Amino acid sequence: MANSFYILGTSSGGLPVADKATSGYLLKTGDSLTLIDCGGGVTQSFLKRGFNPLEIDRICISHTHSDHVCELTLFLQLIYLHKRTKPLDLYLPEEFISPFRNYLQAVYLMEEKLPFKLNFHPITNNFVLNNEGFEIKAILTDHLSGYKELIEKLDLPNKMQSFSFLINTGQKTLLYSSDLATITPIDNYLHNLDYLIIETTHIKIEDVHAAAQGKSINQIIATHLGKNDEIRQYVERANQLGLQNLIVAMDGMEIPL
Ligand SMILES: [Zn+2]
Ligand SMILES: [Zn+2]
Repeated sequence: MANSFYILGTSSGGLPVADKATSGYLLKTGDSLTLIDCGGGVTQSFLKRGFNPLEIDRICISHTHSDHVCELTLFLQLIYLHKRTKPLDLYLPEEFISPFRNYLQAVYLMEEKLPFKLNFHPITNNFVLNNEGFEIKAILTDHLSGYKELIEKLDLPNKMQSFSFLINTGQKTLLYSSDLATITPIDNYLHNLDYLIIETTHIKIEDVHAAAQGKSINQIIATHLGKNDEIRQYVERANQLGLQNLIVAMDGMEIPL
């Protein structure tokens, strides 16, 4: 059966906009559905594309910024109201599991009341989700490293866990950068990719161009997009640099895997 990767939301979380959802992706491998990130508008975007919430097998979250996770409880509520009974696997940054379980209580989605079991799986660096038909490897990035000083000052438990996901279906390989501070943590994983989904909010196109040299990346898909004129400038600069294999993501885009 055909495999696809759907882009459900392309907007940058820094500035939610009227006509796009923030970060959300759907991996479809055979009959299996994996939701990756669940930012604002993702639930609606998922339904708009005709997907059935009862068919979701698992949800993976790259990091806890709102534009990647703020609709996770809404999505669980949707599944609950559709009377799911099948267990659901939740793959969350390890630092998020305990606060999220408390938050479920606060929003009256107590695990004890749900007619389906939530199986929590902590994501740490190099964690591999192995499933029939695909593999997802988590790569720890430096996206949240700028919070170090504040975390130490306030003595917070935050571990600055943010991940890129390398997805391999056996036929195709796709790297979803999620958010980054620098491109360095994913540099070793850029070889022989069919698709690189790269965020444009924190990473300059010049850095993408430099990192892509000699790596054999079939297609680069720019996402986590800012204002229209910023997107236009980004594409113009990509063309100037000779990155002919770059396209801009759109909500609802389907990528064959
Ligand atoms: Zn983001
Ligand atoms: Zn972020």
